Amino acid sequence: MRQLWELPNSAETVIIGGGVIGASCAWWLERSGRRVTVLERRSELGTYSTPNALGTIRTQYGSPTLVALAQESLEFYRSIDKHLGADPAELGWGNQGYLYLVSNPDHMARLRDSLAEYEALGVTSSSIVEQPELSERFPFVGDAVGAIFHGDGSWVDPTRITDAWANAAQNTELCLDTEVLGLEAQSGGWRISTNTGACTAEQVVVCGGARAPRLLDSLGVTSPVKITPRYRVFIPYDDPTHQRSPLIINISNGAYWRPVPGGVWLSTADVDEASVEPGEDVVVPEGFLDRCLEQIEPVSPQLVAHARTLPPDACTYAGGYQSYPADDEPIIGAVTGHDGLFVNYGHWAGVMLSPAAGRLLADVVAGRVSDVDNPCSLSRFAAPRKRSSTNKFGGWG
Ligand SMILES: Cc1cc2nc3c(=O)[nH]c(=O)nc-3n(C[C@H](O)[C@H](O)[C@H](O)COP(=O)(O)OP(=O)(O)OC[C@H]3O[C@@H](n4cnc5c(N)ncnc54)[C@H](O)[C@@H]3O)c2cc1C
Repeated sequence: MRQLWELPNSAETVIIGGGVIGASCAWWLERSGRRVTVLERRSELGTYSTPNALGTIRTQYGSPTLVALAQESLEFYRSIDKHLGADPAELGWGNQGYLYLVSNPDHMARLRDSLAEYEALGVTSSSIVEQPELSERFPFVGDAVGAIFHGDGSWVDPTRITDAWANAAQNTELCLDTEVLGLEAQSGGWRISTNTGACTAEQVVVCGGARAPRLLDSLGVTSPVKITPRYRVFIPYDDPTHQRSPLIINISNGAYWRPVPGGVWLSTADVDEASVEPGEDVVVPEGFLDRCLEQIEPVSPQLVAHARTLPPDACTYAGGYQSYPADDEPIIGAVTGHDGLFVNYGHWAGVMLSPAAGRLLADVVAGRVSDVDNPCSLSRFAAPRKRSSTNKFGGWG
């Protein structure tokens, strides 16, 4: 992207928000021939929720739409060098697989049911691993009784991926410190009011992450999206066995970790949390580390024992937001009744899905995918579908 120091008077396609989703949309739209301008309220790209993600990549969900988006995204990530000219190793691409673990023997039947569900949706190449093989292959899993192992995918670095999209979108203009305060439809497009002045655009794509619902509300566009804060802790740990580990998920309670250079990132997801109004920065609550350690201990006791020996300031914390639409599927597409207005928000796995989410948005803008054929359309909430089971961590559908 090329940084502009002043807001232009007019633009062709404006993207509001420069997180991983806005950056991906910029690349896909530029590629399909649009002249793109990104407006970002912060002083740098990718500094709100995106950099605080764990960047995990997986394809096992209980919803056909999420599986399709995830599989397409995984394919893209696998050949990202050809698409974006970026070296996968430099993007923190890990392909060590992932383990959905259970420590309660009563949960094995559910684990098998989940595997059957994934296979029915076309996510194959997974297997159930039980003791003693489980501990032979993954010697740190403690009391875990069984797991689903999937050898494909694992993680990417969220910040580097955002930069890769932005670097590849060479002709896209970028205005930083530019907060969109209001949108108004006018003949032939939109008038966009910002803290640095106003500009017009033929098309507007709202990619504001957790702040998107607020902006859309001002146009009377509502959607059932829950916004929840999420936290991550870095635990320094150079142990070679843990560094070679797959992504580890305690499916019984939602705690998960993955190796990063010099340590691990650990988090937990409470899918029943109440929705919040997003703020500027997320404060990690007292006791978060203890909660994570307690939840991950049954499947990673060595890591937990190590973490408990560390001085309090050895670990570092980060936080951001995840957005959950009522059916857990992202909202990507046109806004009915508002010509030239598009959205790409409602992401709780936006790093993972950024390739397919950007591609779908560009197809909608170009008229290649109609609202009727778009599984992620905003209009789906006008005639709600049955809630799907996504097997989010801790959710189990
Ligand atoms: C702890 C944690 C762990 C996570 N783990 C994973 C994971 O393992 N895998 C995964 O795929 N995802 C994960 N996520 C979720 C992931 O971070 C989000 O889904 C993703 O970052 C969403 O990207 P985005 O671009 O939509 O949002 P953001 O990164 O929030 O970007 C939105 C941008 O829009 C800007 N903006 C908002 N309003 C305006 C405005 N009015 N004017 C101008 N700019 C505006 C914001 O400043 C921001 O930069 C995790 C999140 C957290 C917090």
